Amino acid sequence: MLATDRCHVLEDPWGDHAIPVRFEDAFFSRDVLAAAGPFDAVVAVADRPTLIAALTAESLGIPYNSPAAVSCCRDKYLARQRFQAAGLPVPNFFRVPVSENSAEAARRAQFPCVLKPLGLSASRGVIRANDAREFVEAFERIRNILDSSDVRILREEHNRFIQVESFIEGREFALEGLVTGGRLQVLAIFDKPDPLDGPVFEETIYVTPSREIAEAQEMLIQAASRGVEALGLTQGPVHIELRLNGDGAWVLEVAARPIGGLCARALRFDRGMPLEELILRHAVGEDVTTAKLSGPASGVMMIPIPQGGIYESVEGIERASAVESVEEVVITAKEGQKILPLPEGASYLGFIFARGHSASHVEQALRTSHSALKFKIATSLPIVRA
Ligand code: ADP
Repeated sequence: MLATDRCHVLEDPWGDHAIPVRFEDAFFSRDVLAAAGPFDAVVAVADRPTLIAALTAESLGIPYNSPAAVSCCRDKYLARQRFQAAGLPVPNFFRVPVSENSAEAARRAQFPCVLKPLGLSASRGVIRANDAREFVEAFERIRNILDSSDVRILREEHNRFIQVESFIEGREFALEGLVTGGRLQVLAIFDKPDPLDGPVFEETIYVTPSREIAEAQEMLIQAASRGVEALGLTQGPVHIELRLNGDGAWVLEVAARPIGGLCARALRFDRGMPLEELILRHAVGEDVTTAKLSGPASGVMMIPIPQGGIYESVEGIERASAVESVEEVVITAKEGQKILPLPEGASYLGFIFARGHSASHVEQALRTSHSALKFKIATSLPIVRA
């Protein structure tokens, strides 16, 4: 059964028999779902519904993460506090009410630092500042994002703050895993080969297996496990972002959900099993501890938005798809769609998937494929009132 945020008056408009819930009202949604049960298991596929999933699981007696644990995952300030209390390395961090004077807040920062909203995702509103002037600029920009109608409609308490963290140097990784009874099973470690040094942090290429030496991968796994434990996550998929530098592995974030967008297509398990199936099998209590990622190497490129405007068209899909080891080029932007780059936006033009004999070969295939694509984006003129 699918449950999704949808008007309850419309009668099954997409023919998927989804149960309509309201993402902004977790308790109402829990009651709707609990009444629609019984269910054997619950899985949330994005950050926002994790609280509804946790409340529903609690009321139906299904094993899942606690509401408190998923709430910490969805609030970057609470998560940092939990990591700190558990003795994990954390950057210097504090949060500032959006209503506060940004120049005054800048005085408390250590530079370089990163400013970010507490509850958005996909790097939306995450900006590096190297000095007080950049801090004030970034602060104002994030304030505008938090004041936009699509964020205000979420009615999230934590969107009244901006978090400031000292900048953690290093290479970045994503770890995909499943948690069972509080124990982390690692499904894949992705290298992010493009440097993520700011001022905005655009996700582009993910490639697995990681090319780091075994000791480094072990450090990432240890840090990820401690992060899961610190947050109190006990059951279900996790997607974890980490950085590695001379001081060790740093947990940037633990999300109580699987990898987002279409990226899951980069992961296939024994006999071609997709990640979604593995997650569902795990949720209903099957033993999936022996699940092995199909190799030798695979990767995805989230196609960045080069400039804001109106998406018109793309050329070169055939050439991009014909690159050796490229499995699929999917353009998700729709003609006429308004597109916004980071930090205000939080989407991609599409995805390129590749699979090959080595991680470096896969990375190169993704880059070659991407360079064959030519996007046409029209400038959208701002509306100016006289
Ligand atoms: P989101 O949930 O929107 O992805 P994150 O907190 O994970 O937000 O930050 C997005 C990206 O910004 C990270 O993947 C990382 O590249 C960068 N980033 C965030 N915080 C820091 C930090 N303290 N130091 C260095 N880079 C950071």
